[in-house]
Amino acid sequence: MKRASRREFLGLLASIPVSAILAKGEATTSSRAFEAQPSFALPPLPYPYEALEPVIDAQTMRLHHDKHHAAYVENLNKALAGYPGLAKEGLEPLLRDLERVPESIRMAVRNHGGGHWNHTLFWELMSPGGAKEPQGKLGDAIRSSFSSFEKFREQFELAGLKVFGSGWVWLVVNKEKKLEIVTTPNQDTPLSMGAHAIIGNDVWEHAYYLKYQNRRGEYLKAWWQVLNWDVAARYFDHAMS
Ligand code: MN
Repeated sequence: MKRASRREFLGLLASIPVSAILAKGEATTSSRAFEAQPSFALPPLPYPYEALEPVIDAQTMRLHHDKHHAAYVENLNKALAGYPGLAKEGLEPLLRDLERVPESIRMAVRNHGGGHWNHTLFWELMSPGGAKEPQGKLGDAIRSSFSSFEKFREQFELAGLKVFGSGWVWLVVNKEKKLEIVTTPNQDTPLSMGAHAIIGNDVWEHAYYLKYQNRRGEYLKAWWQVLNWDVAARYFDHAMS
């Protein structure tokens, strides 16, 4: 067999979806999407645009991934263009400690870097398949923290509904290693609060407006059908290890 050239090998690596990397039991903290090589790249959607229909329509997915997420990546790279040393460290250390980012680009890294991080996680968390309810240790932790899976879902939906303007609703493992529902404004990430994201839903209007218009609550309720709890369980295991 012919040995793959370095170029072919790198091309092959780039074609491996984050989901394949995650399948090895690693969490997104080691995701290639968060490493600048030499700049950050938009990871391919791990499934076809129409895969999440009818909950999320193909047109929303196309715009959301190809336009919105792509723009976050592009603007992040622009912001870091003059700071190759900073980019080399990867995205997560910067988002965890934004004070380390020079003030002139801090807001750009916060917004666009956060946008890149949040959306990469979001695509990975959804799929047409996978567990539709949390199992194992994560299932037990959710039931003991929120009394039941139904109560947890209600609280998560309510928190998402209450986000004023644009933002995200998350289930995180917080600094005390406890499960907690939190929200972040704009593209702020749970990393900036020292937390590990377990699941997260995008409540920006661009995530649901074409299909649900102003009915965010309906979107939040329908979203459970496309959430893959197998992925969430891997994030949880990583967060607790
Ligand atoms: Mn979005």
